Amino acid sequence: KKIIIAIDGFSSTGKSTLAKQLAKELGYVYVDTGAMYRAVTYFAMQNHWVFEEYLDKEQVVQNLNKVQLRFQFNDALGFAEMYLNGENVEKEIRTLEVSQKVSRIAEISEVRAKLVQQQQEMGQDKGIVMDGRDIGTVVFPEAELKIFMTASAETRAERRYKELLEKGQTVTYEEVLENVEQRDYIDTHREDSPLVQAEDAVVIDNSDLTREEQFAKVMELVKQ
Ligand code: C5P
Repeated sequence: KKIIIAIDGFSSTGKSTLAKQLAKELGYVYVDTGAMYRAVTYFAMQNHWVFEEYLDKEQVVQNLNKVQLRFQFNDALGFAEMYLNGENVEKEIRTLEVSQKVSRIAEISEVRAKLVQQQQEMGQDKGIVMDGRDIGTVVFPEAELKIFMTASAETRAERRYKELLEKGQTVTYEEVLENVEQRDYIDTHREDSPLVQAEDAVVIDNSDLTREEQFAKVMELVKQ
């Protein structure tokens, strides 16, 4: 029987790595909800509605109907890429600039309402692994398996820093650590759907777990 697997947790805890592994193993669809919030952020950046200290919330809300998001599976990569208004924005949405603004866009209730609705529609046929911040609490409170991932801020910043360097971006470890801590703060303190652990979630602290150990642990849970 196909189920819904909800994976939530702090930034850069390896949620997407685990979710992709699970989807592949189980033949499920993987949905990265962070990519959706990132795409809306990129849209707002292109229109100059969001800067370091500035956010024109009204413009973002009024123009939400102009944001069309779509995931398209890439066979070569083995996962779906994000398309914003028909354009592949997979690379554009993964920059530190987007990471520095996305949590403020994700605080906007109208943005959340729109994306949550789309996410719920994607889960109608089950057989889905979705990762984010509010999947087990808001999007699919009825999910059969909920995982909550955590790790120390330093472990997470270290990972994210290496990833960004591999992608050829010019960043410092300090900048990345600051960003990870800042997003944790905003994500856990926002009024609408703050990041909290679902009561029935299984917590995985992967500061000291390898990818393989973590995957094996979760596969055990899936089989139960
Ligand atoms: O998962 P990722 O780090 O790409 O998410 C980027 C940001 O999008 C998070 O820091 C959070 O502010 C927001 N987000 C959210 N709810 C989700 C997924 C992401 O608020 N379900």
